[in-house]
Amino acid sequence: MTDNLHSRDRAAWEARVAALAIEGRSFIDGRLVDARSGLNFERISPINGRVVASIARCEGHDVDVAVASARAAYERGDWRRTDPKERKRVLLRFAELIRADLELLAMLETLDVGKPILNSVNVDVPFAADCIAYYAEFADKLYDEVAPTAGNELALVRREPLGVIGAIVPWNYPLIISAWKLGPALLGGNSVVLKPAEQSSLSAIRLAQLAVEAGLPPGVLNVVTGYGEEAGKALALHNDVDMISFTGSTEVGKLMLRYAGESNLKRVALECGGKSPHVVMADADLEAAASGIAWGIYYNQGETCHAGSRVIVHESVREALIEGIEKVAATITLGHPFEPSTQMGALIDQGHMNRVLGYIASGIAEGAKVAFGGRQVMQDSGGYYVEATVLDAVQPSMKVAQEEIFGPVLTVSTFREEAEALAKANDSIYGLAAAVWTADMNVAHRMSNALRGGTVWVNTYDRSSLATPFGGFKQSGFGRDRSPHAIDKYMDFKTIWTAYK
Ligand code: NAD
Repeated sequence: MTDNLHSRDRAAWEARVAALAIEGRSFIDGRLVDARSGLNFERISPINGRVVASIARCEGHDVDVAVASARAAYERGDWRRTDPKERKRVLLRFAELIRADLELLAMLETLDVGKPILNSVNVDVPFAADCIAYYAEFADKLYDEVAPTAGNELALVRREPLGVIGAIVPWNYPLIISAWKLGPALLGGNSVVLKPAEQSSLSAIRLAQLAVEAGLPPGVLNVVTGYGEEAGKALALHNDVDMISFTGSTEVGKLMLRYAGESNLKRVALECGGKSPHVVMADADLEAAASGIAWGIYYNQGETCHAGSRVIVHESVREALIEGIEKVAATITLGHPFEPSTQMGALIDQGHMNRVLGYIASGIAEGAKVAFGGRQVMQDSGGYYVEATVLDAVQPSMKVAQEEIFGPVLTVSTFREEAEALAKANDSIYGLAAAVWTADMNVAHRMSNALRGGTVWVNTYDRSSLATPFGGFKQSGFGRDRSPHAIDKYMDFKTIWTAYK
């Protein structure tokens, strides 16, 4: 099937898309449902500016129903109390159904988000399935602890699921980030209410249908679609939600903490924004660095939280590096997302595209120079496309060096001494990721210890796997997705201390 998808041309993809009946209802208590108000909102595809779907506009009442369903499922225990082997079986089946649904899920993801279809096919859908399968395997392999005690006593330290998890996710990798939450939350027996971003509801609705088909009892996974300020806020303020697992902007992440304080002191885990630096030393392999840097910022149109968006390069190699990045950028095809050769697609919506273009203008106004790119392109399509861009001569104080642009825009600044490079790299409110490019392992170790980021890459970028934790320092958030460490986020530890004779 995958081979088929790879050989399909744009016309064939578009014919399949035209034949789709797209589902925009929420998924609550095992069923597709409209918002109680009957209201919907239109999702405009970033590919061509046309309406692709009508999405249920859930509000407080709908969230109440979803949370009640999640709570009832938790209390009934028909998921939480099942044999761990059974939970593993269901989650593995869920992963298999995601794989089997590759074509539809990939089309929905590309239509909604504007990312290249072959990225959806090769990355977003399979990575989401892999993530669910990875966590499924833990269901019957997690042991609790017996603590050391004096004789005639037994102290058990047991993990218990938290209860009802509210998962609020962004639009840039809707399937992958949802799976990062669902895998570890579900494996231990929690119920989940998933709130996709209003820009990307389609794949979440489909995921919930597949989960029930796999055997997840109704109510264990609910999807409430709608706006952040309506459905999202109601979920985060809900007194019967035990935890909010949030991925999105730092600004909204701060609101999550406030909502937890204003309601039931629910737990909060935050994966927020980034402004990740590349430090390129004079002795770096410039060809490798140029490739790592270009793909690290232009993949997914730059709409990646850990995109390496700031280059801090030794002044002696600045020019050569920029030339190298430009060469690689020229090979990354920007185009219609259903064209199989496309490697950079559309930005999520018109407002976001204007924001990205506004940042480019602000950089220029503050004295940065456009080394290449900088313009909106493909206007005839009706969609929202911006070309791969480098802003050179950027000073750390400029807005473009400090704020997350979340588009295909890279800033370049220079340094003379290692200490200056480190200070510039760490001069950010964010700390999601960083990279250092050097031939000297002493520098590599010194820098990777001192760079403030949840992930530091050395002579590479964006390498990762489910086995490594992912998340940020500083205002990039706290808590980690992926790896076994993510599991305990969704659990409480209970000590059971028994005296015996
Ligand atoms: P966003 O913060 O605007 O929205 C994220 C989610 O929060 C959406 O579901 C939205 O509907 C909801 N929301 C918005 N306002 C809300 C409110 N008042 N109450 C409750 N929910 C609300 O972010 P976005 O524009 O969807 O995504 C882009 C951001 O996400 C970027 O900053 C990016 O760096 C970040 N991100 C971080 C990671 C990570 O792992 N650290 C991964 C991907 C994206």
